[in-house]
Amino acid sequence: MPFPPAPASTHPETIALHAGWRADPTTGSVAVPIHQTTSFQFQDTGHAERLFGLQELGMIYTRIMNPTVDVLEQRLAALEGGAAALAVGSGQAATAFSVMNLCSAGDNIVSSTDLYGGTWNLFANTMKQFGIEVRFVDPADPQGFVRATDDRTRCWYAETLPNPKLQVFPIAEVAALGRAIGVPLIMDNTAAVVLCKPLALGAAIVMHSTTKWIGGHGTSIGGVVIDGGNFDWAAHAARFPTLNTPDPSYHGAVWTVAAAPLGPIAYILRMRTCLLRDLGAPMSPFNAFQTLQGLETVSLRMERHCANAIRVAAYLASHPAIASVTHPSLFQGEAKRRAEAALTGGYGSLMGFELKAGVEAGRRFIEALRLFYHVANIGDARSLAIHPATTTHSQLSAQEQLASGVSPGYVRLSIGIEHIDDIIADLAQALDKASA
Ligand code: PLP
Repeated sequence: MPFPPAPASTHPETIALHAGWRADPTTGSVAVPIHQTTSFQFQDTGHAERLFGLQELGMIYTRIMNPTVDVLEQRLAALEGGAAALAVGSGQAATAFSVMNLCSAGDNIVSSTDLYGGTWNLFANTMKQFGIEVRFVDPADPQGFVRATDDRTRCWYAETLPNPKLQVFPIAEVAALGRAIGVPLIMDNTAAVVLCKPLALGAAIVMHSTTKWIGGHGTSIGGVVIDGGNFDWAAHAARFPTLNTPDPSYHGAVWTVAAAPLGPIAYILRMRTCLLRDLGAPMSPFNAFQTLQGLETVSLRMERHCANAIRVAAYLASHPAIASVTHPSLFQGEAKRRAEAALTGGYGSLMGFELKAGVEAGRRFIEALRLFYHVANIGDARSLAIHPATTTHSQLSAQEQLASGVSPGYVRLSIGIEHIDDIIADLAQALDKASA
């Protein structure tokens, strides 16, 4: 007999520990078991037929669905206030799937210019190979999304808290403009998990690289796409042929119709049954288990990440060797208004700064760090640092780097949850060495 679920909650602290799982019905195991299996025994031929025919949802093969991954999906959907989710092998796969689920060759999407470098490359180069055009617009002007849209535009895409600029995206304004003309907004909420709820602000889809704050411990690459269940795909049928016309790969199923008995999940059901089936980028059960361990404490960690970051930003802003510091806690005017409109849970733990003495001082600073790790990652419990122009953004042209906010002497920090005194002591000694 299944154990009754814990009472539903709207609080992220409780959701992250309890949503989607109580205990194993046969063993009573409280921790979610790692179902490291490729396939699942059917009860009989009728059962197998119902599963393949989508009359019943259930486990068939781990490329498409797995019980450990399923708990993570349910928990992340609940955390973001969505209807359902699909976990995949990386954040990059999540971004690619989120767009490819709506687009065919000849279609386009409109994206903010303020993007993670990997997403920029995917959009500016690789999507072209599939005949999908990405039109980039400046997020400072929400109307730019409308101007760039035509009847082949399938979605808009942006990051809540894009590094390195950290200019918070105007989610509510842009989502409302899109809804008025039937275009869904997809938000990459990786850097603002728990801090921002894009679906509540009007976004239709949220994705995360779970590699970052959700996993939180730098152990497992992963990604997730969450269907808000709040966008009427059938009401704009001409704009979304992948969801509203018969799918020859599934006996002519029309996904908005096929999903109806299961809930408002046409978008994510099609992603699972078609893209995951055909392109095959599932999250492994072991990575889902690791990611669940991180997720359980994400709210608590975000509190400490954010509190430490505010202290570090204030320290750096008062340091004589530093020309400028970028962190939402220091913003003024419209940037501050936008940060406060979206980041109701805290300003995040990413920040950047420019040393007065330029690129060489930046290199000396990174090499002098002893507590901070020098890695191409963000959102680890440990403090991290990197020089984007020579690493994460190095595949972009100099002009593209500047457009995405990377100047040659910029240093990016991801502030961890260590004791604040130790973090500041490490920065202080490295700044001394950089200026020597
Ligand atoms: N989105 C953002 C904001 C990121 O920072 C990253 C990775 O750095 C990704 C997506 C891609 O995620 P992954 O590295 O898990 O593929």
